[in-house]
Amino acid sequence: MNYKETLQAVDPIKAFKVLDIQSSQEGAYLYFPCITCGQQAVIKAYGDKKNVWYCPECKEKGHIVSLVMAFKNANDSEQWDYEKARRFLVDKALVYSTSRIKRELNITYEMEYDHFLETQGITRETCEKLEIGRPQGKTMLSGCIAFTVYHEEKKIAFFGIRIKDQKRIFHKSFNPELYLYNFDRIDPEKEVYFTEDIFECVRLIQNGIPAVCNFGLPYLSSSHLDMLQKCKYVSVACENGGMDEMKKQFFESFCNYVRFIKTNSTSPLI
Ligand SMILES: [Zn+2]
Repeated sequence: MNYKETLQAVDPIKAFKVLDIQSSQEGAYLYFPCITCGQQAVIKAYGDKKNVWYCPECKEKGHIVSLVMAFKNANDSEQWDYEKARRFLVDKALVYSTSRIKRELNITYEMEYDHFLETQGITRETCEKLEIGRPQGKTMLSGCIAFTVYHEEKKIAFFGIRIKDQKRIFHKSFNPELYLYNFDRIDPEKEVYFTEDIFECVRLIQNGIPAVCNFGLPYLSSSHLDMLQKCKYVSVACENGGMDEMKKQFFESFCNYVRFIKTNSTSPLI
């Protein structure tokens, strides 16, 4: 993994946790005490300039690898060089697995239609067709709505949304940055809807509208952009007109036709 790939693959929240650095997150920004002056500094947690930090007080700046290096050299008796800091981050603080799943998933869940799906406007028939439901028995997705994820016609993972708090749950081998939900089933020559909300995505599919979803990530990975780039026309459903980071990414990196459609919880697309 080179320098650029490391910056993309490392999760600064995980890194700060392992280093025992206090931090608080606001959207794409993570605030933490500056290594040099102790005042509040900020690092980008995702999107453009991910893992680049800046201190408005002492004007010190850098990226997460040099930050780890400086931190360790101030707190550790050992000398930390760049490569040691980089390896530390790759070992302890990777966002997700960095490669696609090659083998078909051999786990099957007994899925039950749940009332929660009904409240989301998703029918029993849709759930059967798309293999969605609440897994029975004790599994890592107990208490979740499980979505079956296919990639290149292979079942590769289950993606879960926990019913009580809507937290995203999935196995560490599944990296949501590398896939788009339902991408296998769309026709790239026709208009495709993109949404970060998987329930919205399923509602669109249910209504015969080709749609894909990035599993709730607040940004687009380079794989997401590559995949969407294959679609001639992309319509982006933005809840409450939000998604500033993604809009920026579309404007900067997208070559095909794209339009943004505002939705909100009181007037969803469907
Ligand atoms: Zn500072």
